[in-house]
Amino acid sequence: MYYFFVYFYSCKTKLISLILFTMNIKDNHWLEDGKYTEVKCPKNQQPFGLNLPDTIIIHYTVGSTAKSSADYLARDDVKASAHLVIGRDGSIYQLVPFNIVAWHAGESSYGNRTGFNKYSIGIELDNAGSLTKTGNSFISSFGKAYPESEAVLAKHRNEQSERYWHTFTEVQIQTCFDICNALISKYNIKTILGHEEICPGRKTDPGPAFPLDKLRNDLLNDVRKDSDAQPTNGTVIASLLNIRQSPSASAPLQANPIPKNAAVTILEEKDGWLRVRTEIEGWVKKEFIQPIK
Ligand SMILES: [Zn+2]
Repeated sequence: MYYFFVYFYSCKTKLISLILFTMNIKDNHWLEDGKYTEVKCPKNQQPFGLNLPDTIIIHYTVGSTAKSSADYLARDDVKASAHLVIGRDGSIYQLVPFNIVAWHAGESSYGNRTGFNKYSIGIELDNAGSLTKTGNSFISSFGKAYPESEAVLAKHRNEQSERYWHTFTEVQIQTCFDICNALISKYNIKTILGHEEICPGRKTDPGPAFPLDKLRNDLLNDVRKDSDAQPTNGTVIASLLNIRQSPSASAPLQANPIPKNAAVTILEEKDGWLRVRTEIEGWVKKEFIQPIK
């Protein structure tokens, strides 16, 4: 039985309640005893660099069980791994301690960084990914059928139309929130991203069934707002940054691109985009704006 507490959090504009299970991380960089099952993964031995990790990357497994995915990722002959796998019943498998680099990101880029393994902790959630409707069943890419109650029709942030996705369970999402909260307390975590955001086009995880924006808003943005450190000004870090009429890569351009090092005022954030003001107003990808505190 989990012990939990209710944490009320207030900021200027709203009152948010977060229900968090207690979770701690030991000084040896493993989760606290009794909360996880260790799966030995000796292939990962390289420690993170100074002040790292500072990012969490969220994934789904496209596997049939958390245990089978954890065992697969731990294999010596598999060139992938992750720090954690979270099951649909909230069970946790830890493969790699949090001070050691795991291999979950692959070729990846976001903002001015590439190769996210060296910056980030990788959390895998047991989930089948996208599903194809066949009669009353919803079939995964590996051929397993799921009931309608486990399928949700939703539009992926990197796609134009809706399709079916395997749902996450409440306890699984709650466990993920709780672990991220513990990681933020223990490490220098500043950013939470989906694999789909650092590998757009190549990866679709964790997809629209996972509340990724809520996770980072609840655990990162609102804390920043409360400490009055929410940035309102920023600098362009791309060599030329497209500015669009709405927060979408397919939206019409608002004006000529903004040059590198240009100063902008940040007005609003939505789905990984920022509405900014320079000489004009429009939407730009958040990853190419460096906030000025
Ligand atoms: Zn992934």
